[in-house]
Amino acid sequence: MKIAFVSTECVPYAKTGGLADVAGALPKALEKMGCEVKIFLPKYSSIDESTHGLRYNWAVGEMPIRVNGVVRSVHLEQSKLPGSNVEVNFIDCPHYFHRGRIYTNDIDEDERFILFSKGVIETLQRFGWAPDVIQCNDWQTGLIPLYIKDNYNWDRLFDNTATLFTIHNIGYQGRFSKSTLLAAEISGDLYYPDGPVEFEDSVSFMKTGIAFSDLINTVSNKYSHEILTEEYGAGLHTILRARKEDVYGILNGVDYTEWHPGVDRLLPFSYSKKDLSGKTKNKKFLLEHFNMPFDENVPLIGMISRLVQQKGFDIFAGALEDLLNLNVQFLILGSGEDRYESLFRIVSQRFPQKVGAYIGFNNELSHLIEAGADMFLMPSRYEPCGLNQIYSLKYGTVPIVRKTGGLADTVKDWDEEKHHGFDHGNGFSFYDYTSYALYSSVERAVNVFKHKDIWKKIQLNGMNLDFSWEKSAQKYMELYKMAKEKRE
Ligand code: ADP
Repeated sequence: MKIAFVSTECVPYAKTGGLADVAGALPKALEKMGCEVKIFLPKYSSIDESTHGLRYNWAVGEMPIRVNGVVRSVHLEQSKLPGSNVEVNFIDCPHYFHRGRIYTNDIDEDERFILFSKGVIETLQRFGWAPDVIQCNDWQTGLIPLYIKDNYNWDRLFDNTATLFTIHNIGYQGRFSKSTLLAAEISGDLYYPDGPVEFEDSVSFMKTGIAFSDLINTVSNKYSHEILTEEYGAGLHTILRARKEDVYGILNGVDYTEWHPGVDRLLPFSYSKKDLSGKTKNKKFLLEHFNMPFDENVPLIGMISRLVQQKGFDIFAGALEDLLNLNVQFLILGSGEDRYESLFRIVSQRFPQKVGAYIGFNNELSHLIEAGADMFLMPSRYEPCGLNQIYSLKYGTVPIVRKTGGLADTVKDWDEEKHHGFDHGNGFSFYDYTSYALYSSVERAVNVFKHKDIWKKIQLNGMNLDFSWEKSAQKYMELYKMAKEKRE
């Protein structure tokens, strides 16, 4: 099976969130199953050529690509995904991608990803390589399914190429004014109220991807059902419902060569299920780093997140005063909205013994918090998959989550499971999106933490689980086959 994996983020080159982890891991797992996978990524200026061994592709040479009536000069650079033979193709167009940020609020944000989408297709043409499936990820790649079926329909190369549109977050839709139709050379016939491209008087890249792809999937089973509802569909539930039988959910996996306390190169102390003493040493190391007192009996609660409302920071802020009255400490790593960045700055200054905050993006620290914290809090309003709770399970860091999307699919509440006669609970969860519900589940966790033997059982229940990519990659293989059959 030949797969083109098109993404705007990929570890280790460019990352703002979970998509990057998926793009850096799923193609490797697919390759192990015998697939030929080529990744496509924009060549952002932040990607250093020498660090990552990028080579200019002379055979492809210059690709003139028209966006918004202007022909841009586009080039291809290539590398191999570390630890694999997966080819990574970087679409290089300095005009659009040398901006210092992956995503911008610039006026030509639509043009940046129009160029990327066309660049991917034109590269495939120059390779003369017809993928069985082009896997498109999120709104930035939403035009590709349309381009394959319409603008580039003349090219027989793609006659048997199917498209799979993977939704990592329906909250980000890529909506632009009607003038984008011209910039992207989308046929005006496709733009009409409630049509495949139009959404509330705008051009929606996400909707276009949903409308024109052969199959659609999201990154957990629960979220694939949630997005069909008005509450979670962010306005696109109607079109998703119309394509209900084509919508699937596959839980993201984890790259355990990166995220496993036994092999994690970023940890000062490694540890395992059999011997958790390294975990305590990491906690001590981490707290010292933040000038906070260490006490084995005071639970340390970690949070690593984009600081946006989706992640539940409004209900967390509402619960903070009560939470600080518990005998706990917090470590928060994140960046995002000003209101949350300043809240955590202020709280960490006022309660330096109890709250540590690092405002910014720091991969090394994210590993250390996963290892050093006792609990991990994710009170998301919605969560397509969520990776940190899955990492937490492997690190013996007990997750406390809101029961939504991938969080609901992976975290089993200790008390509820016991109630049902099982003892395989691996965390704590709450359903109501309220500060009170959040507070109550943290309080429950803090009380159970006092019983070391029970706590260890919960930790081990999580550490014993296996969310490696193999299982999910197998499911993707099945989906690719179905997409291909649909296209034939
Ligand atoms: P999302 O994709 O919605 O941001 P996920 O839980 O799926 O959420 O993935 C988030 C990924 O980004 C995780 O790997 C997490 O560790 C990482 N991450 C988020 N914020 C930061 C940060 N400030 N510093 C380092 N890593 C971060």
